[in-house]
Amino acid sequence: MIRFNRPPYTGNEDQYVLESMRSSKMSGDADFGRRCQEWFESHFLCKKTLLTPSCTAALEMAAILLDISEGDEVIMPSYTFVSTANAFALRGAKIVFVDIRPDTMNLDETKIEQAITNKTKVIVPVHYAGVACEMDVIMSLAEKYELFVVEDAAQGMMSSYKGKALGTIGHFGTFSFHETKNYTSGGEGGLLLINDDHYVERAEVIREKGTNRSQFFRGMVDKYSWVDIGSSYLLNDISAAYLWGNLERADEINRDRLESWQEYFTALKPLAESGMLELPSVPQSCVHNGHMFYLKVRDLEQRTALLDFLKAQDVNAVFHYVPLHSAVAGIKLGRFDGDDTYTTFESERLLRLPMYYGLTKLERNKVIQTVFDFFV
Ligand SMILES: *Cc1c(COP(=O)(O)O)cnc(C)c1O
Repeated sequence: MIRFNRPPYTGNEDQYVLESMRSSKMSGDADFGRRCQEWFESHFLCKKTLLTPSCTAALEMAAILLDISEGDEVIMPSYTFVSTANAFALRGAKIVFVDIRPDTMNLDETKIEQAITNKTKVIVPVHYAGVACEMDVIMSLAEKYELFVVEDAAQGMMSSYKGKALGTIGHFGTFSFHETKNYTSGGEGGLLLINDDHYVERAEVIREKGTNRSQFFRGMVDKYSWVDIGSSYLLNDISAAYLWGNLERADEINRDRLESWQEYFTALKPLAESGMLELPSVPQSCVHNGHMFYLKVRDLEQRTALLDFLKAQDVNAVFHYVPLHSAVAGIKLGRFDGDDTYTTFESERLLRLPMYYGLTKLERNKVIQTVFDFFV
C-alpha cells in the first residue's frame, strides 16, 4: 500500500528527543524550543515566534490577542479546516464565509470587500496547499477598513508570496507541525508568528496561563502573578526536539517534496491537456512548498470512482475539506456572503495523491500509472 502521508523523519530526531528527555527541563521554552524559535525568527525575518501545542492553539491565541468578542465578524473561506473558524467562534465571533478561486482554492480576494460590514474585524486568508492568497489585495483592504489579518499558514511553511515568507505578511501568522504537514514536532505542534512588536508581551502572557512568568524569567519583574486571561499554549521540549531534527533538514525536505510535486505535474500534464482532469496552478507571485498534490476530476461521482480505483491498486489517495458553511456548526455560527459558485463544486471534485518526504520514484511512478490506467 502506498500511504497518503508519512510524518517527516530525517535521522536525528530520536537522538534529540532522548537528549531532551535526559535534560532536566522538558517543559516549554527549554533548549530545543528556544533553538527552534530562533531558527524561525532568523529564517523568516519575523519579530517573534512562539511554539504552541498546535496550529489550532496558535489561531486561538491570535483571536484572544485581537480581543475578538461577541458580535465581531471574521472573514474566511468555507473551504478550510475547522480550527480556522473555531478559534474565532470560541470568542463569540460570527464567521463570514467568502467564496474561493477555482485556480488556487484560496479566498477570492475580489469577493472580500462586499462581505465587509461595520462589524468586520479580521480577514483570515488560508494558504491552501502552501500556495499564497493574493496578499497585496488583502493587506490593502485591511488597511482601508482598519482590519486585522491572521494568515492561516498551517500548510505554508517555506512558501512565499512576492519574496515574503507566508505567515510573516499579516499581523499574525500560524504554522502547523501536525504529522500530516511538511514539518512536524512529532505528531502535534504549531507556531504563532507575531509580525507587530506591540503584541509580543501580551502573547507571552496569554501563552503562560495569563501570567507574566516569561518576564519573571528574564528578570524584568521580581515575582510573577496573574495579569490577564490566558491558557496553556506552550509546546513541550520533547516535541520541540523532534521538530529541531526536521528544521536542520528543512531545505532537504522542501527540495524532496517539490521534486515529487514536479514529477506528478509533468507526468499528468498530458491528461490535463486532453481535458480528462485539472492540475493545480501556482500564480507567478508564489513560491510553494510541495505541501500537497491535488487534481480535480469531473464531479463527485467520478472522484469516488477514482478514489476506489486507486485504493484497489493499493494507492491511498484522499479527498479534502467538506465546506464549513454546510456543516452543522457552520450553519449555526456563520453565514456565506455572496454566491457559493466554486466552494462546494470544486471541493467535491478534488482529490489528493500520496505526498510525503521520502516518496520514492517507484512509488510515484505507480501512482501516476494507476491514474493513467483509470483514464485511458
Ligand atoms: C492542519 C491545519 C490546521 C490545524 O493544525 P493543527 O496543528 O492540527 O491544529 C489549521 N488550518 C489549516 C488550513 C490546516 O491545514
